[in-house]
Amino acid sequence: MDEFPVIQKARQFINDAAINSVPVDVERLASNAKAKINVRTDMDDDESGQTFSLGGKNFITVNGNQREERQRFTILHEIAHIVLELPSHHHGDNITTSDLVSYRRRPKEEMLCDVFAAECLLPYKFFSRDVGNIDVSLHAVKELAKKYKASITSTGSRFAVYCNAPCAFVLIENDKIRYVSSSKFLRELNGWIEIGISIPQGSVAYRLIKEPLKMEDYDEVESNIWFNNGIKGYELVAEEAMLIREWNQCLSLIWLDESLRRVSQTKNYDDQDEGALLKELNGVLPWPSKRRRK
Ligand SMILES: [Zn+2]
Repeated sequence: MDEFPVIQKARQFINDAAINSVPVDVERLASNAKAKINVRTDMDDDESGQTFSLGGKNFITVNGNQREERQRFTILHEIAHIVLELPSHHHGDNITTSDLVSYRRRPKEEMLCDVFAAECLLPYKFFSRDVGNIDVSLHAVKELAKKYKASITSTGSRFAVYCNAPCAFVLIENDKIRYVSSSKFLRELNGWIEIGISIPQGSVAYRLIKEPLKMEDYDEVESNIWFNNGIKGYELVAEEAMLIREWNQCLSLIWLDESLRRVSQTKNYDDQDEGALLKELNGVLPWPSKRRRK
């Protein structure tokens, strides 16, 4: 099984449960998976949940001391195991928090359950519309995370996918790029970020990690810092990054907009008449300016 049928199954599951508002009603989803949720407050800090089946019923226990968005993700991850009929490969009956948060050594089945969980938590039909209506920024990601009661990481990852501008979301853990998601507009510009490499020097994320005076920052950095051969027509990309010290992680949102197009081109426009200008602009997708100065 790969991601595509998993996403289809998640969308079907959301439809079958008649989910028509957000934040998604996780209890309703659980009951559709014949699962009963039990919240416990006596579990270890590092334990997120447990699940077992008995007589055709599934029992999902979650750690009530953890943040609500973490509990919701744990429940949906466990529901994914039930719906996709994928055995738990590394956590057995118990699921630890680092199993869910860390991007290292993730068996494929576990990744697929996370994909299912994210699709349920941030359903396409609501989320794509919300993302389409807002400017790119970490602030926007955080607001959506609140609205959907999802983690900033899950929300940011899907934000980049549905963004209507060239945009990438990067998760860095222990100074290495562990996860990247990107919009089709960025892929069309051949904007690829390699997974597994060290965090590039000169990036905002690098600065935050090496000199953590702030928890988050925004800047415009040279496009070849993030993209091997740069991005044609763009000397600069916008980057906003934030640290998550608890997990030794850093999240980075990288995007392009019209205001970042090559300065020399902008200068040339001054010398051209309107007709030439329009011709020059022909075939270039106009992205609304999403620039945000601090
Ligand atoms: Zn699992």
